[in-house]
Amino acid sequence: MSKQEFKAESKRLLEMMINSIYTQREIFLRELVSNASDAIDKLYYRALTDDQLVFNKEDYYIKVTADKASRTLTIADTGIGMTKEELENNLGVIAKSGSFAFKKENELKDGHNIIGQFGVGFYSAFMVADEVTVVTKALGSDEAFKWESTGTDGYSIEPCEKDSIGTEIILTIKKNTEDDQYDEYLEEYRLKSIIKKYSDFIRYPIKMDIKGQRPKADSENEFEEYQEEQTVNSMVPIWRKNKNELTQEDYDQFYFEKRYGFDKPIKHLHISADGAVVYNAILFIPENTPFDYYTKEYEKGLELYSNGVLIMDKCSDLLPDYFSFVKGMVDSEDLSLNISREMLQHDRQLKLIAKNINSKIKSALLSILKDERDKYESFYKAFGRQLKFGVYNDYGVNKDVLQDLLLFYSSKEKKLVTLDEYVSRMSEDQKYIYYASGESIERIERLPQTELVSDKGYEILYFTDDIDEFAIKMVSKYKDKEFKSVSSGDLGIEPDAADNESAAEEAQHKDLFEQMKTILNHKVKSVKASKRLKTHPVCLSTEGEVTIEMEKILKAMPGSQDVKADKVLEINVNHEIFQSLKAAYEQDKEKLGLYTSLLYNQALLIEGLPLQDPVEFTNDICKIMV
Ligand code: ADP
Ligand code: MG
Repeated sequence: MSKQEFKAESKRLLEMMINSIYTQREIFLRELVSNASDAIDKLYYRALTDDQLVFNKEDYYIKVTADKASRTLTIADTGIGMTKEELENNLGVIAKSGSFAFKKENELKDGHNIIGQFGVGFYSAFMVADEVTVVTKALGSDEAFKWESTGTDGYSIEPCEKDSIGTEIILTIKKNTEDDQYDEYLEEYRLKSIIKKYSDFIRYPIKMDIKGQRPKADSENEFEEYQEEQTVNSMVPIWRKNKNELTQEDYDQFYFEKRYGFDKPIKHLHISADGAVVYNAILFIPENTPFDYYTKEYEKGLELYSNGVLIMDKCSDLLPDYFSFVKGMVDSEDLSLNISREMLQHDRQLKLIAKNINSKIKSALLSILKDERDKYESFYKAFGRQLKFGVYNDYGVNKDVLQDLLLFYSSKEKKLVTLDEYVSRMSEDQKYIYYASGESIERIERLPQTELVSDKGYEILYFTDDIDEFAIKMVSKYKDKEFKSVSSGDLGIEPDAADNESAAEEAQHKDLFEQMKTILNHKVKSVKASKRLKTHPVCLSTEGEVTIEMEKILKAMPGSQDVKADKVLEINVNHEIFQSLKAAYEQDKEKLGLYTSLLYNQALLIEGLPLQDPVEFTNDICKIMV
């Protein structure tokens, strides 16, 4: 028997292959099982055109057997087998795919299942094996052949005995080294889990002899070892099944088995798309946030299958960040994979799928919002923050996708409402969508700044999340209505008679307010008579874009610049304290100083802002008590 050298380019490729194409060794089994499945498929396609050949699905299977004593792992199939020439051509020349040629010859296009296309998968066996032996007998042939190779040094082919048609791939598994473990590829449970992971949906049974223990028939506490042939793969993926054959339990079970999460998803989407791009997908919207969800560690992504074979655990390109909570899988025949199946070569199809999925998720969420409000609210409690980040990020490019998914607590409804609901309730004279920011609903309820807007009967949205105000700045307008903070200078509310009076008073007290401003030493931009206060004596409002809540949040961010809101101290001139203030202004300048700084500090406290000098503040209070 003479040894054949691999063709020169093949040799280089083989070295590359063993060392670098695949990042995970375990995928060798996926490749060999896929080849076995292809070989059975080829018989099946032959039978379609050949009357002599009968294809009984039950007779076709793949068998995986490990033998620790001889360190061999065998992958046997009852497929089409290979002739001597095919062995030479398909296994002697790397990067030559018999399967690709078969597809071409037989003009198989849509709906085919054959996986092979690059002609390199077979060689991944050398990542875990010192030696690979292929024993094969082709359909319609009387002779069997044995192909043997220890890797780069070449291969040999010789005749041998084999009873039935098909192929056996026998790997002699490498010995463990200090750095690398290979023994695991002889362990039943490990092999089973690799098959489950990558090849669960191969259409033919993948069988293994599974060892177990059972009580002896004639004894209660004695056990005996036994061995049983089991089919390890599920074969028909749930996503290829018809939707009406599946129950809610089937989907829940799938979610659980796939370990997408420990909760019960609030919704599943089963998509079978056959438009511009053909794919199947099952997606889940979880109920709870995973513990690491709002951390850097959380990795978004969907499982990606090509023709039922797992290609990627977490394909992040399939999901935008704002829908990063979605779990599930996508299976498509249309993907152009690179040779290691680890990267996608051209992502045009993938982009199309991602776009498609994105809009399906959005409509699913909208329909939950419409039809199952409670469910949506509990979803929103878990993931609303992520949606708001989505609105804010990238300068608001995604606001149109997301704004209708937002909810905010309403002062009137005392529950979460959508922007659309808010706008539809706006009265004709109402110019803006009003909001108030604060730490909690309770705190906002007590903010003096809300008084005028509430008195007018307008609804106020409560922003309690630090991202809220920033996100809304990005939305800027909803159905042509601008957003307005209740603390902003111009509330756009028409002055009534009383307000005109206060404007007049404003002019009258101009000098008092100027003095107060001087006393406060430019801590505020101005002091003025308030138009919004009804019962409270004092509050802060802001001019310009930056509100006080925003200032607080920006200050709390690491490395933040010193962003400041332009604050205005508003005084309720109808309040009793104003008389004291006026009296002090006329008679006692020292008292005016005391009152001014007291009122300013009170306003800070109401806003939840720190006092610059708490000791001075308490001393001031003592001064009036004495
Ligand atoms: P690919 O599967 O991408 O074509 P592989 O390197 O995995 O490339 O396999 C090379 C070729 O060897 C296959 O195209 C096929 O023609 C042949 N082959 C491999 N394994 C088998 C098998 N179990 N039965 C029959 N032919 C096989
Ligand atoms: Mg292959």
